[in-house]
Amino acid sequence: MHKSKQNQKEIKPVLQYPENELSYGRWLFSQPCMFLRGVKNVENLEKPSLPEIAFAGRSNCGKSSLLNALTGRKSLARTSKTPGRTQQLNFFDLGEKLWLVDMPGYGYAKASKKDIAEWNQTIHEYLRGRPTLRRLCVLIDSRHGIKSNDLEIMAMLDSTAVNYQIVLTKTDKLSSNALIKCIEVTTDSLKAHPAALPNPIATSSQKGFGIQELRAEIAALANDGQIG
Ligand code: GDP
Repeated sequence: MHKSKQNQKEIKPVLQYPENELSYGRWLFSQPCMFLRGVKNVENLEKPSLPEIAFAGRSNCGKSSLLNALTGRKSLARTSKTPGRTQQLNFFDLGEKLWLVDMPGYGYAKASKKDIAEWNQTIHEYLRGRPTLRRLCVLIDSRHGIKSNDLEIMAMLDSTAVNYQIVLTKTDKLSSNALIKCIEVTTDSLKAHPAALPNPIATSSQKGFGIQELRAEIAALANDGQIG
């Protein structure tokens, strides 16, 4: 390798994972993914069982598209978008190895104060009292970056010590320079958040970018976590 290249500050838009982790992620996300149920009240939560990975983000951040891309199923996100289910925590079983939890989107401009208060309470109770919650993916639209309501949930996660992964969405909409800048700015701001994993994962559901890496990251938290 040329010395000049070696010394160059390299920002890779995608984190690197070993092939065995990528292939376990591919395998896991090709397993059946079934809707278990949706709950609005924390008392009605599914009894903790398998490790849980939850997904949260501002409404329109691309959460449904990302869940579809990860699982390769269109019906998954449609299930969460069914009227009446948008304000719920929707639980899905993935291959009997882990549960994916689709959390209601936040920051919807027309949400009433009552809805926001209810959302906060449900989420707070879920985050506090869920021993099986292994990680929360906080989705950030890469065009907008981290906004004040993202910071609110990040503060909640920092205070409840729930590890979270920032996932940048819709990165196909950015030029490669803008994407690198976005990753840099986001990585820098994560230093102030103790429960955040240090590196964001950049994705595009539309182009498939970063999807296999996110699968690998999540699959490593699955029940058997066996990586052969
Ligand atoms: P949700 O409200 O967070 O579930 O967001 P959706 O998944 O419904 O996406 C909101 C909008 O963003 C839709 O118009 C999607 O087509 C668009 N979108 C989502 N992901 C991507 C992506 O990776 N690339 C692009 N270009 N558009 C996306």
